[in-house]
Amino acid sequence: MAKRVYLFNEGSKDDRELLGGKGANLCEMTSMGLPVPFGFIITTPTCREFFEGGNRLPRHLQTEYNVALKLIEDRMGSLFGDPDNPLLFSVRSGAPVSMPGMMNTILNLGMNDVIAAGLARKTGNPRFAYDSYRRFIQMFADVVLGIEGDGFEEAIIDYKKEHNKTLDTEMTAEDWQAIIEIYKGMVSFPQDPAVQLRQAIEAVFLSWNTPRAIFYREMNNIPDSIGTAVCVQAMVFGNFGDDSGSGVAFTRNPSTGDKQFFGEYLVNAAGEDVVAGIRTPQPISSLEQQMPAVYKELFATQKRLEEHYSDMQDIEFTIQQGKFYMLQTRSGKRTGRASVKIAVDMVNEGLISDKEALMRVSPEHVESFLHPMVDPSAKTDIVASGMPASPGGATGKVVFSADEAVTVAADGTKVLLVRRETTPEDIHGMKVAEGILTELGGMTSHAAVVARGMGVCAITGCAELTINYEQGTATTNDGVVIKRMDTITLDGATGDVMLGDIAKTAASDSDDFQKLLGWADKYRRLGVRANAETEEDATKARELGAEGIGLCRTEHMFFEADRIDHIRGMILSENREERQVYLDRLLEFQKADMKALFRVMHDLPVTVRLLDPPLHEFLPHGDEELEALAKRLGKPADKVREISQNLQEVNPMLGFRGCRISVIHPEITEMQVAAIIGAAVEAQRDGHNPYPEIMIPLVVNVREIRAITDVIEKVIMEVLAREKVSIPYKIGTMMETPRACLGAERLATAVEFMSFGTNDLTQMTYGFSRDDVGKFIAAYLDRKLVEDDPFVTLDQRAVGRLMKIAIEDSKKRKKGIKYGICGEHGGDPRSIQFCHDIGLDYVSCSPFRVPVARIAAAQANVGPSSSE
Ligand code: PEP
Ligand code: MG
Repeated sequence: MAKRVYLFNEGSKDDRELLGGKGANLCEMTSMGLPVPFGFIITTPTCREFFEGGNRLPRHLQTEYNVALKLIEDRMGSLFGDPDNPLLFSVRSGAPVSMPGMMNTILNLGMNDVIAAGLARKTGNPRFAYDSYRRFIQMFADVVLGIEGDGFEEAIIDYKKEHNKTLDTEMTAEDWQAIIEIYKGMVSFPQDPAVQLRQAIEAVFLSWNTPRAIFYREMNNIPDSIGTAVCVQAMVFGNFGDDSGSGVAFTRNPSTGDKQFFGEYLVNAAGEDVVAGIRTPQPISSLEQQMPAVYKELFATQKRLEEHYSDMQDIEFTIQQGKFYMLQTRSGKRTGRASVKIAVDMVNEGLISDKEALMRVSPEHVESFLHPMVDPSAKTDIVASGMPASPGGATGKVVFSADEAVTVAADGTKVLLVRRETTPEDIHGMKVAEGILTELGGMTSHAAVVARGMGVCAITGCAELTINYEQGTATTNDGVVIKRMDTITLDGATGDVMLGDIAKTAASDSDDFQKLLGWADKYRRLGVRANAETEEDATKARELGAEGIGLCRTEHMFFEADRIDHIRGMILSENREERQVYLDRLLEFQKADMKALFRVMHDLPVTVRLLDPPLHEFLPHGDEELEALAKRLGKPADKVREISQNLQEVNPMLGFRGCRISVIHPEITEMQVAAIIGAAVEAQRDGHNPYPEIMIPLVVNVREIRAITDVIEKVIMEVLAREKVSIPYKIGTMMETPRACLGAERLATAVEFMSFGTNDLTQMTYGFSRDDVGKFIAAYLDRKLVEDDPFVTLDQRAVGRLMKIAIEDSKKRKKGIKYGICGEHGGDPRSIQFCHDIGLDYVSCSPFRVPVARIAAAQANVGPSSSE
């Protein structure tokens, strides 16, 4: 049988799995020679044995821990259960991963009526002895016997009222004895210390399976099988008198990351009093005046621990009659900004390597440098929650239409655009809005993709809201009515909708952040490009470190107010001549836009995708708008209506879109290619080195590619011959349909690059509409029918498998193809790890996610792979 009980001098910090995080750190501190009250740990496999044995402790466990107990008695010079010289214990749970929701600590275990009296005699401090005893009863009743703690607190409150007392410090030994008598009337608990210990150990194991703990494990993908350890440690007392106390501290400031010892303590108090916040603690700096010797030891200890662990530590300590004890150390939780500062400072101080610094920062931490964020401590009045579609925090007045957004925002008023969903027609409103909130949609629907591209905060799929445009209201499930021009706040990082103006932390760059990004670039293999189509977005993308444009959605360029009517005219044309007039105008717009992109990107590749969406998306929806358009175009309204109706599709996402448009209307492709290459020629003459990559969307077979490539190459040749120049270029395809992936071997013959459009690929693999998924995905996640929203984190099992097949098969046929991803997953850290592992050359994401992607790509290369 494996050893089940370890003394604190028998383990180390590397034994987390066996002894739990808390236990491993207690062992480590003991072997460093720090003043840790001695104790033992029951291992995590024992927890499994406990469950396997039908919630019973293994047969010889008690004998085993009794041996450890004797050794602790020897070391501490006191005896468990001896009234004249009692040894008391704290008992805590300690899993290999930090896990809230498990058993609380029991302190002062080993007390009973006789021992309380003995402790009073021995210490000459009966007040302390009886206070400790009543605390024990209270905790034991709560944690082991499962009796709610409120009744105990109420008993104290009533007693104080009756006896005209307010503070605990006014309570005498007699008062506490009276309270104990009251408690005894409320609960029956074992007087035998050995029974107390056994029951406490059982309670720790049982707490592994409380609903809260199970829920936490499910949320965080922690396996049920790992189990918890039990830490049993000799008690020391911070509530012994004015020369005693307890405190918690961080080796650096956890909110700013400043290198400044930071914490608080309470004189004459147990550790739980500091945590409970009953009295206001004092800042750690005043301990230097109050107990200089203790402070010196504490300061030296925290410094040593931080150096030893090479990380910021969160510590707990106790002072008993002027003697200092360490009770706990662990890696300290910190804000995003602090995590970057601490990581970079520690490299400068020689504590960690730059690679380690990279692994210390979570990609999400990076968001706080790029967007204002809702201050978590200021969050109140959450009235609804949706999908966290685009990070950042935004406050503004609610408007329900894009036109209204523009009108209200004209004088600088901040607005939030609230819609059932957004369409390309809403772009002008989205541009002026501080944030966007939609009732419908998912993580890759129009609102989400566009907002992310603009770096604007957005919440989509907020099914808890019902929007009524006529009344100008959005009503929550709980009946809260948000009216037009009400002020609300959106938290795009969590999906929370709040009433009023909630405090935010400002976005701001820092030298440390730039340094960290520099290290990321040094260690990543994956290239990082941006999805961008405007000069502004491209400039931002370069500023944030993009190495090219991986997806320019050309249709976004035609939604602008000054060009949408031309594309509408083209769509509504009844013959080729009429269409050509509009195409000629569009060519000029397209060319000017492309030239601007080539200028900004200078010599970096720009992947331009041919027109993708169904044509009717460009047409106005309402009857009034349709008539107005007919007037502007000089066409009969009935004709416009008829063509528009003919273009309507039952299932547009699977309809006349993508390369199918190029096949049926090669003249549109001709115009686009002429504009792209014409712009490249002009950019080259202006001293740039443009590198266009023309990308064909939604392909299903190689014949489509060939048909379209013929058109593309013919135009390229014409332009280059006319201009008498040479421009490097590539022609490639998006990989967005399962058939394209499964037939990649043949596609390979016709392309130089393949870019996975995982938005559509996910949609078609799952058969989940990317625009309607908001209606049911939350329920699916709740019920664990899917692990993640597949439109957020790439589904490795099926969608990822299609990608792998496509790469392997196409490589068999042709070497040198470049592989990328431009679906929204290209900016998701977990998906980026997978993209690295399967050997993509680059990821492409919205500009504001470029820094996140740079860090995630470096972590993918430095850390363990996703399949490990
Ligand atoms: C995709 O489908 O992943 C993609 C990038 O194209 P879009 O989102 O424009 O359909
Ligand atoms: Mg697509």
